[in-house]
Amino acid sequence: MAMLKSSLAFLVLASAFFLCFIMSIGDGSYDYFQFVQQWPPTNCRVHIKQPCSNPRPLQYFTIHGLWPSNYSNPTIPSNCTGPQFKKILSPQLRSSLMRSWPDVESGNDTRFWAGEWNKHGTCSEQTLNQMQYFDRSHQMWSSFNITKILKNASIVPHPTQTWKYSDIVSPIKKVTQTTPLLRCKRDPAKPKSQFLHEVVLCYEYHALQLIDCNRTAGCWNNVDIKFQ
Ligand code: 5GP
Repeated sequence: MAMLKSSLAFLVLASAFFLCFIMSIGDGSYDYFQFVQQWPPTNCRVHIKQPCSNPRPLQYFTIHGLWPSNYSNPTIPSNCTGPQFKKILSPQLRSSLMRSWPDVESGNDTRFWAGEWNKHGTCSEQTLNQMQYFDRSHQMWSSFNITKILKNASIVPHPTQTWKYSDIVSPIKKVTQTTPLLRCKRDPAKPKSQFLHEVVLCYEYHALQLIDCNRTAGCWNNVDIKFQ
């Protein structure tokens, strides 16, 4: 009898935890923001099934997204119940975003923005409405020019040179006074070889102040990084 009781209690507890986990995926509670910028040539080299629509990818870091994230699991929340994307961006903001947040894969900027808003923006709608979400993202992109920061540290695209993770993090950290996160893509043509793909800056709950990012698996440890 006691055995049956404890099994039942365990089952109830496990179901409650599972239910909480499922609910937290899409309920819009989050701890901080990841502001993710990408290096378009890496997208076009390794990321996608179809070739990029632009044969010469942009040579500067562009926005991938602004992602409300949880410390316990940075990939959630997502696809929350907030209002879906509306095409009501002002002409001025649209033209800013076409520079800072282009669709570097298929060239359909509005569809890319809609996808990012619906998957991520809906989860922080209580903090940033759609207009504020895109406006703030563009401001973040303008405040720290990652391409220029790296260039000033002599980190520029090169066909053979490689860098250590810390070589790339260090100049960004110096300028932003916080620790960024790097994400890499493995080179499909060479085992144990990786390209720099994304630079993540982290912001606190209100998306106003930079904070240190927690290092999560984004690049292989101890494998030099190609930037091409
Ligand atoms: P997430 O959904 O986590 O924001 O981003 C992952 C998806 O965004 C991936 O499917 C990736 O291919 C896509 N993605 C990243 N950059 C671009 C881009 O510039 N254009 C398009 N269309 N998709 C992108």
